[in-house]
Amino acid sequence: MSATSKPSTPLNALIAGQWRDASGPEYFTHYPHDNSKVAHLHAATKEDVDEAVEFAEKARAKPSWAGLKAHERAGILSRIATGIKNRSEELAQLQRLDNGKPINETRALVASAAGTFQYFASACETLEDTITPARGDFITMSMHEPLGVVGAITPWNSPIASEAQKIAPALAAGCAVVVKPAEITPRMAIELAKIAQEAGLPDGILSVLPGKGSVVGDQLIRHPKIKRIAFTGSTGVGLGIAQLAAQKLMPTSLELGGKSPTIVCADADLDHAVAGVLFGIFSSSGESCIAGSRAFVHKSVYHEFKSRLISATQHLRVGDPSLEKTQMGPLITQAHRQTVEQYVELGLREGGQILFGGTRPKGSDFDRGSYFLPTIFEGLSNQTQMCRQEIFGPVLALLPWSDEQDLITQCNDNDYGLASGIWSKDYKTVWRIGRALQTGTVWVNTYKTFSISTPFGGVKMSGTGREKGRMSIHEYMNQKSYYWGLNEEPIPWSK
Ligand code: NAD
Repeated sequence: MSATSKPSTPLNALIAGQWRDASGPEYFTHYPHDNSKVAHLHAATKEDVDEAVEFAEKARAKPSWAGLKAHERAGILSRIATGIKNRSEELAQLQRLDNGKPINETRALVASAAGTFQYFASACETLEDTITPARGDFITMSMHEPLGVVGAITPWNSPIASEAQKIAPALAAGCAVVVKPAEITPRMAIELAKIAQEAGLPDGILSVLPGKGSVVGDQLIRHPKIKRIAFTGSTGVGLGIAQLAAQKLMPTSLELGGKSPTIVCADADLDHAVAGVLFGIFSSSGESCIAGSRAFVHKSVYHEFKSRLISATQHLRVGDPSLEKTQMGPLITQAHRQTVEQYVELGLREGGQILFGGTRPKGSDFDRGSYFLPTIFEGLSNQTQMCRQEIFGPVLALLPWSDEQDLITQCNDNDYGLASGIWSKDYKTVWRIGRALQTGTVWVNTYKTFSISTPFGGVKMSGTGREKGRMSIHEYMNQKSYYWGLNEEPIPWSK
C-alpha cells in the first residue's frame, strides 16, 4: 500500500469526550518514504487543553469511573487489548504511514501495545494494598488512590508502544489521561482512543490533543489539575518539564535520550555479537533511545569483528517500509536527515573515518524519502562530540579497548545512562562489568529485547522514574497510610 495515490485522511482530536477539530491551525502529516501527505488535522490550543482537563477532572470523579472496582477497570483494559489485536494489521499499516518504520517493526509495536494493556489488566485486578506490622494497639495500612488527571507526552519514534506504556497503568490506577502525541505522528493515539471508547471507557477518561509541544505540552504541564506527567522524548525538553513540574511539586517520569555503549569482549561469540550490534544500532534506522551507538570491541577481536560487521551492514535491506523484506526504512523527516548528515560531517572533522555509509542511498526508490545509509565510523575518540551526543540516526562509532577498568570509565564517561550491552561467554566478566555500568538496563548476549513486566528507564541525563512492571501502576497513585485505633481506653496522655 502506498500513500502516494491516496487523498490524505482527516483526523479529529478527542476533547471533552467529543471527536472534533481542535481549535488551532490545520496541518498535514507526511509519509517519510515518499513525503506524500497522509493525514490532515487541526493542532490543539491552550484553550483545548483547559477544556479537556476540566472535563476529565469531572469525568474521573463520576461513579461511572471512580466507582469501578479494580476488576471492572481490568475488564476495560482487557477489551482494549482485544480491540488492538483485532485491528493489528490495520494499525501496523497506519503506523508505518505515520512514521515510516518498516512494517515488521510496526507489527511488533502494535503487538507490544496489546500485550501492555493485557498485562496491566492482570496487574490491575491482582495488585494489593498492605496491612503493615503495627507497633501499638492499632492496625496500620498502606493504601493507594488514583492521582487524578494525568498527562502523557510522547515522541514520534514508537508511538503506539510509548502511549500504551503510559495510558494502560494510568487507567489501571483509576486516573484520567490526557495524551499529547508528537505533532507529526498523531495517528496511533487517536486510534487507541477509538478502541478504548469501543471497549467501554467512559467519555473524558482519555483525551487526545495533537499539536505543538510548546503549546499543548506546555499547558498540560502547567495546568493545576494535571497531577503527573509521563514524558518520553529528548533530554532538552525533559529538563524543561522537570523545572516546570518542580514549581507545583508534580511527580514526573522522564524517559529521555541515550548514547548507549555495547561491549564486545575477547571471548564473545562473534556471530551473536555482530548480529546484536547491527540490530542494536540500525534497527529503527537508529531512531531509538536505546540505540547502541558506541560499540567498544576488544582489541584482540577488533579486526575480525569489524570486517564481519561491515559485511553484515552491506547486506542490510534499506528501502520501502511496506515491503516484508525491508530492515531499515527512511528517517522521520528531511530535516532530521540533515541533522544526521551534519553529525557525519562533524565525525569527519573530529578525526573519524567512515567504514561504511555516510551518505544517502542512490536510486529512484529513495528520491523522495528521507533515507540515509547505515553508517559506521572508526578512529573517533570517546571524548568527541560524536561519541558524547545522541545522534538519533543510523550512525555507529567503533572503539577498540584492552583494559577493563579503562573500558568501564569510557562507557560511563557520558551524560547519558539509558542502556548498555555486553557480549561475553564468561558470567563473571559479565557480572563485573554489568555492575559497574551506569545505565538503567544492561543487555547480556542480547540487545533491544523487552518484557512489559521488567521496569525500564534511565539514570543520569537519560531520565528519572520507571515505566513498565506491575508496580508502575503505583506511579499513578497517591500512597496513603491509615492508623486504625483499637484502644478500649482513651489515649493516656489526656489523663
Ligand atoms: P522531543 O523531546 O522533541 O518531543 C517529545 C514530545 O515532547 C513531543 O510530543 C513534543 O511535541 C513534546 N514537546 C516538545 N517541546 C515541548 C515542550 N516545551 N513542552 C512540552 N512538550 C514538548 O523528542 P522527539 O524528537 O519527538 O523524540 C526523540 C527523543 O525521544 C530522543 O531524544 C529519544 O532518545 C527520546 N526517546 C526516549 C525514549 C526512552 O524511553 N528513554 C524512548 C523514545 C524516544
